[in-house]
Amino acid sequence: MRPVRLVVGAVVVGAAATFAAMGRWPRLRASEPLPVAARPVVAVPVTETVDTLDRGETVSDLLARNGIAHLDLSRLDSPVPFDPRRLRPGLVFSFRRPDTASAPTEISVRTSPEQRLLFRRSGEQWNTVAEPIAWKAQTVRIQGGIDNSLYEALDAQVSDEQLDGADRQRLAWDLADVYAWQVDFTRDIQPGDRFRVVFERLESEDGEVRFGRVLAADLTMSGKSLTAFRFESDGHSAFYDGTGNSLRRAFLRAPVQFRRISSSFARARFHPVLGITRRHEGTDYAAAPGTPVMAAGDGVVLRAGRAGGYGNLIELRHRNGITTRYGHLRGFARGIHAGARVEQGQTIGYVGSTGLATGPHLHYEFRVNGVARDSRRVELGNGAPIRDGLRAGFQAERDRLLVLLHTEAPAAVAAAPAPAAETQARWLP
Ligand SMILES: [Zn+2]
Repeated sequence: MRPVRLVVGAVVVGAAATFAAMGRWPRLRASEPLPVAARPVVAVPVTETVDTLDRGETVSDLLARNGIAHLDLSRLDSPVPFDPRRLRPGLVFSFRRPDTASAPTEISVRTSPEQRLLFRRSGEQWNTVAEPIAWKAQTVRIQGGIDNSLYEALDAQVSDEQLDGADRQRLAWDLADVYAWQVDFTRDIQPGDRFRVVFERLESEDGEVRFGRVLAADLTMSGKSLTAFRFESDGHSAFYDGTGNSLRRAFLRAPVQFRRISSSFARARFHPVLGITRRHEGTDYAAAPGTPVMAAGDGVVLRAGRAGGYGNLIELRHRNGITTRYGHLRGFARGIHAGARVEQGQTIGYVGSTGLATGPHLHYEFRVNGVARDSRRVELGNGAPIRDGLRAGFQAERDRLLVLLHTEAPAAVAAAPAPAAETQARWLP
């Protein structure tokens, strides 16, 4: 097998320039039969070894251990940024040594999920080549009820073989981001709520698996269906509802990212001990001290300072007589002072427990003409419609995604649910 792989490597080098223009790497698998014409007359057997960069050791140490002395990778011209002094421990290097050579003549290292760097010796020279790694996207649909949290609901429908735990968490976070203007996932979930989501599962030519992107989703929250379709235009993608209105709104439902609220804090919603002893005009988000607080919408800072029971308070002024307040902050983000402009999603301060707070949490108020309103129920109107010129393209993409979302046969089959015990032990938002 090894000699075959060597030949494949040589062929690929020759073909690289040809195929680079096509944006696709013509890498062959060792198991694939090689065209006879491509075989050189002599194939030298090659020994391949794999080694891992240990904590506290340099790349030179690792190279020396594998028989390559006096090679400073940082001195080689690299087609991509590559700093051997900043490599993380655990990085895997592989070495190829033709049996006729006394030391390896090729070093390969994965510098990112998308590419590997190859260092090849010819004579006394080492050359560097960046080789893209192809990932194939597979479309997966999962669906189920949301009994307790979004994470648990998704986790129960995706097996370890489909996505690992970290990627299941990423899926939950990304899905929460899609609905950041519609749903506050830390509080809005009710018994009977359901989800469907179509996402990409990526598999590399080396067999690794990772989560790609959310493509479409349908959430049923308190009996109301919220659909979301990804659509790309002008080089960036956004989510739209079925009629082509953007899901974006002037205000986020929650000024703390779902992914920043840890499980134990998110669970505090079942124990509403915070802030009930005084007249309460806002929504409390229990979160670890220092958790970033975001501006819920574009606006101007009215004040940022100490304010009685609020502790450190930021008040923002928005359009249409709307103001938002962020209380009990540990501190303010750089540049946040009266008169400063802020954008939706910008970090303005950090969760704390200043003022009348029994524990670290954000007190958030949404006010219209000075009157506090329930930030989670306030009507934020329709999102901006898709441009007329893009409408036909959007409708075609929406219809394609609708099939993936709702037709039983073509969408990839969801795997069997993970064991319940494991799900319970790995609780996250
Ligand atoms: Zn409060």
